[in-house]
Amino acid sequence: MQQADRIKNLPPYLFAEIDKMINKAKQEGVDVISFGVGDPDQPTPEHIVESMIEAVRDPSTHSYPSYEGLLSYREAVADWYQKRFGVELDPEDEVVSLIGSKEGIAHFPFCYINPGDLALIPDPGYPVYKTAVLLAGGEVEMLPLKKENNYLVELDEISPANLKRAKLLYLNYPNNPTAALATREFFQRVVALAKEYDFIVAHDSAYSEVYLEEEKPLSFLEIAGAREVGIEFGSLSKSFNMTGWRCGWAVGNENLIESLGRIKTNIDSGIFEAVQKAGITALTSEKTAAEEMRQLYRQRRDRLVAGLQDLGWKVPPNQASFYIWAEVPPACENGEEFSRKVFQETGVFFTPGIGYGQQGDKFVRLALTVSQERTEEALERLSNSSIFN
Ligand SMILES: *Cc1c(COP(=O)(O)O)cnc(C)c1O
Repeated sequence: MQQADRIKNLPPYLFAEIDKMINKAKQEGVDVISFGVGDPDQPTPEHIVESMIEAVRDPSTHSYPSYEGLLSYREAVADWYQKRFGVELDPEDEVVSLIGSKEGIAHFPFCYINPGDLALIPDPGYPVYKTAVLLAGGEVEMLPLKKENNYLVELDEISPANLKRAKLLYLNYPNNPTAALATREFFQRVVALAKEYDFIVAHDSAYSEVYLEEEKPLSFLEIAGAREVGIEFGSLSKSFNMTGWRCGWAVGNENLIESLGRIKTNIDSGIFEAVQKAGITALTSEKTAAEEMRQLYRQRRDRLVAGLQDLGWKVPPNQASFYIWAEVPPACENGEEFSRKVFQETGVFFTPGIGYGQQGDKFVRLALTVSQERTEEALERLSNSSIFN
C-alpha cells in the first residue's frame, strides 16, 4: 500500500540510522559510550515516585482524564509560573495539560497552519517544529542560528516578505542543541516583530530549569505583550528527570490555548490522572531535587570540557541545557565524518549536528547524560586515538 504523501515527504530521520549503527556495534561486542542520548540518566526523585504510587491506588484516577487536565494540575502549573517567573496565569483559560510537551509542539501547527502557510523555524533546532509544520501542510523558512550571534535568531535577516507571510515562529531557549539562552532584549524584539507582522510565537521552554550558571532562563511570558502573541510549552521531562512519564503543559494566550485544547479533544484523551498528581507533587514540593541535578551536570560538564580541551579540541562549556554544541576540529570535514571516525576508533558516540539542521553541519552535540566514570573512560579512549594525536 502506498503511504500518504505527508509521510512519504517527511525528511529522512537521521537518528534511526544512528541507532542502527550503534546497535550493530553493540551486537559485535563494542563497549559503546554514547554522548548522544538527550534523556536524563538519573531516576525520577523518590518523593515524586511515592506520590505516583499513592495516586495509582486511588480508583478515582483510573477513568478517562479530563481533556484539558485536572484543574488542580493546571493550578499547580500556574502557581509554579508565579513563583518561578512572576507570571500570573489563569489556570482555567491560560493553561492546558500536554502528554509531554512534544505532543503539544507537534499538534500546534494543526491549529493555525493551512496548506501553503509559512512557519519560521530555527536551524539548528529540535526536529519536531519543522516536521509538524510539514505534516500540517505548511511551508517552512529556516532561520540560521549562528555562533557569532550567540545562537539567537537574527531577526533583522528575515526578509519582509517572509515576515508578512509567516503565521508562526518557533523559538527554543535554553536551546537544544546549541545550549544558548535568550536575553530579555531579544524576546522584547520578538514580541514587537510578532505584533508588527501579526504572527504567533511558540516558545519551547523544555530546559527552563536546566541552567548551570547564575543566570536563570526567562519565560517568554515575562515580556510585556508576550501574552498577546505567544504560547509557551513546558515539561517535567528534563527538569525533574521524568521523560518517561509524559507530562507537560502549554501556557499563554487564551485563544491559542483554546485552539490547542480543541485539537486535542479530537485526538487524545489527556494524561493519566495519577501522572498529573505526581506532576503536582513535582511542581509544588519544596524538595525539587533540581539543584542536585544542576550540580551533577555542572560537574560532568567541567570534567568533559577540561578533558576535551586538554586534547586540543576547543569545546565551549554550556551555560544551560545538558548539551555541549561543539564545532568539529579543523582537520575534519563535517560532523558526520568526525562522529563516524570517533565512533569507529573508540566506541564513543557524538551526535552529528546535521541531525538538527543544515547549520549543524560542522558541529556535534555531546549530551551530559554519561556518568563521571564513563566520561573518564571516554576521555581515556579519545586521548589514545589517532584523532587527537
Ligand atoms: C526533550 C525536548 C522536548 C520534549 O520533551 P517532552 O518529553 O515531550 O516534554 C521538547 N523540546 C526540546 C527542545 C527537547 O529537547
